[in-house]
Amino acid sequence: MSEKVSERFVVTLKKSLMCVISFAPLLNFSKIQAMESPYSKQKGKRAALIIAHPGHELRVHHWLEEAKPVVLVLTDGSGRTSKSRLESTTRILQRAGARPGSIYGRFTDAGIYEIMLQGKSDLVLPLLNETAEFLIAEQIDYVAGDALEGYNTSHELCRYLIGAAIELARRKTGREIANYDFLLTGRPDECPERLRANAIHLPLDDAAIARKLAAAEGYPELKHEVEGALKQFGKILFAQEWLRPVPNHTGINLDHAEVPYYESYGEKQKAAGHYQHVIRFREHMLPLAQAMWAEVEKVNSGSPCAF
Ligand SMILES: [Zn+2]
Repeated sequence: MSEKVSERFVVTLKKSLMCVISFAPLLNFSKIQAMESPYSKQKGKRAALIIAHPGHELRVHHWLEEAKPVVLVLTDGSGRTSKSRLESTTRILQRAGARPGSIYGRFTDAGIYEIMLQGKSDLVLPLLNETAEFLIAEQIDYVAGDALEGYNTSHELCRYLIGAAIELARRKTGREIANYDFLLTGRPDECPERLRANAIHLPLDDAAIARKLAAAEGYPELKHEVEGALKQFGKILFAQEWLRPVPNHTGINLDHAEVPYYESYGEKQKAAGHYQHVIRFREHMLPLAQAMWAEVEKVNSGSPCAF
């Protein structure tokens, strides 16, 4: 990797680490306790977790234990280094009873950055088709994955991929697959009122919190960030997990009135001489999302898709 490319990843790596543990303070228990979790609807169903970076699984650790999903991870989490952090995620999956799927650290972070920057749909479309085939072969009933937060471009790409792959699988088989997201930088208790009736909510008991903390503290690449988060917020921040229902089209219809964070941040880095190029929503991300949906549209839909 060139030095300039490496420099571009300094912050990307830090963000990918921080996004995992930047849990927020606390929770509105009065609202949560008044609700009955709809998780029972999905209990026993076949689940997949699809995330951009290894380590994201910590945010939904108890769901991981409960649902035991098959897990796809787009990058190896190497950032600007040559060291993958997939092994740490593999340990967590094994202890939770989950398992890696067919796409597991497919790209380096440098590689996926270049894919987005150069708009390499010839690499993204095979990934889309492979993900759809995975959903079909594993007979997945519902998927949880990165939310679209405008924060990290790999997270955004992952969200585009999930929605398009679910729709592609649905069109090919006629089977519905439910689509959920979870926040990586936002408050873990953030779930809009209008979504709560159909969201998966897991309040963690003391034992589940302890296991989640042990998993986070046992992730050596994130040790510093986990310690910082615990010191700042305390363990209670780990006590809620929300998987929120999300439309498959999320992102593609998004008309950013405001410049997304990743773009404004990239502009600052470029101005400071740290970046040569800035990944932008309209120039880079939206065309990739549109290319994926054009691929989806090649398969006729049997029925209107609510999502
Ligand atoms: Zn990340």
